[in-house]
Amino acid sequence: MSLTAKQLLDSITAEIGHSAILQGEQVEPRYAVDWSRENPCLPDVVFRPNSTEAVSTILRLCNQSRQPLVVQGGLTGLAGGATPQTGEWVLSLERLQGVVELDAESMTLTARAGTPLETLQLAAREAGFMLPLDLGARGSCTIGGNIATNAGGNQVIQYGMTRSLVLGLEVVMADGTIIASRNKLLKNNTGFDLKHLFIGSEGSLGVVTEAILRLFPATSSRTSALCAMTNFSDVIALLKSMKKKLPVISAFEAMWANYYRYAVDEVKHRRDPFGQHHNFYVLLESEGNETDKDEARFQQALFEELEAGRIADAVIASSVQDRQDFWAIRDAVGEILRMVKYEANFDIGIPLNQTESCIREIEQELQREFGNLFLLIFGHIGDGNLHLIATTGKREDTRRIYDIVYRITGAHQGGVAAEHGIGMLKKPWLHLSRSPEEIVLMQTLKSALDPNHILNPGRVIGRA
Ligand SMILES: Cc1cc2nc3c(=O)[nH]c(=O)nc-3n(C[C@H](O)[C@H](O)[C@H](O)COP(=O)(O)OP(=O)(O)OC[C@H]3O[C@@H](n4cnc5c(N)ncnc54)[C@H](O)[C@@H]3O)c2cc1C
Repeated sequence: MSLTAKQLLDSITAEIGHSAILQGEQVEPRYAVDWSRENPCLPDVVFRPNSTEAVSTILRLCNQSRQPLVVQGGLTGLAGGATPQTGEWVLSLERLQGVVELDAESMTLTARAGTPLETLQLAAREAGFMLPLDLGARGSCTIGGNIATNAGGNQVIQYGMTRSLVLGLEVVMADGTIIASRNKLLKNNTGFDLKHLFIGSEGSLGVVTEAILRLFPATSSRTSALCAMTNFSDVIALLKSMKKKLPVISAFEAMWANYYRYAVDEVKHRRDPFGQHHNFYVLLESEGNETDKDEARFQQALFEELEAGRIADAVIASSVQDRQDFWAIRDAVGEILRMVKYEANFDIGIPLNQTESCIREIEQELQREFGNLFLLIFGHIGDGNLHLIATTGKREDTRRIYDIVYRITGAHQGGVAAEHGIGMLKKPWLHLSRSPEEIVLMQTLKSALDPNHILNPGRVIGRA
């Protein structure tokens, strides 16, 4: 460590104390990389502040010394955004945890940024509410990370992305200034709505330290089914039909046969609830407040779809265990990502009317180029968002896989990142989804809010 770096560390230690700082051998390997597992880099220093004021002190002093920092939440990000680059120190929010307030009248939950999402889901449930943000990484990801990435997940179809659930934010700027917008109002047009600058900007414009989130009354019934289908056009027809027939669709998750078979046979080692193999599977969920009526309506709707030939077969959950078993198949992606190697991992957005042709073209071109490729397709089809995991098992092929998939996605009016963000790993393809003018405006905002580029430098966009 250089003399200036040591002096900086000494001055930060003097203000926030030793207990909030790890250095040298104290820094565990987990701080070196996010879930992408790409390009790990062990940082020299990790700050673990437990107050907004301490976050502000760290940023103020690092900014004065031009010391770059990378912000870390739960490190479940898949775009390499929280992975340190050489010379960066880590600002981890893992000790900034807890529910600050649950306001039952305003139906809001105020939480510190490092709180795991699942902790907030449980806090809301215990008070008779629902926080309708849910993703496979719920146990490890933090609400600050969810806000920074504008996370999507399983309930976007009904409740929108994280952005639509955030009412107020406390943010610390790169120079240490604390911006506290503790808004609880649904309607508030008093000037610029600044929180949207920070939601989805992946920690490059400010550090989220606290958030006020919208709650919804908990629904009393939830009905779930796993549907098997033969054609992709039936998947889309089912979505349309269910939107008409059911009052609230809270999840509509599609799985291609390649994903479903791998998850059931190779990951979960389960008996397939269907007697035979099918081409497509949909995990469908509906919510309501009239348990008996909701179940009857759900069953009737599925029966009509079977009669119409859109569904080849369906299994309705008759217990909480059944429902959990359905979701275990969909959530097996977490385990799959630990099993595969050198994978290209996609979260593309594709307009529904283009999905079938786009995926067919991707499959054909990848097979033509690589022969026997490992490819899994699944995702939040109700939101026009698909995940693909593709690998040949060889690191040197990964870049070419990304190029092919993004080129074809772009040609079908799709986007390169529907929910995981750009981070470091998807930067080379940002220009396929954003115009040069949009990228320049992003660079202008970055330079205005973080003129010394100390905060998550190089994430999302390069320097102008
Ligand atoms: C099994 C699995 C399933 C997943 N499913 C989904 C899904 O369905 N939908 C989805 O959208 N994502 C999904 N993800 C991706 C990931 O969980 C989300 O991106 C999540 O929001 C990241 O939160 P985190 O706390 O882990 O953030 P990190 O990985 O720690 O960081 C992500 C980015 O946010 C920045 N950041 C973190 N905290 C803050 C903060 N307080 N202030 C400012 N910047 C910050 C980091 O610098 C980085 O750029 C999944 C990941 C896994 C492993």
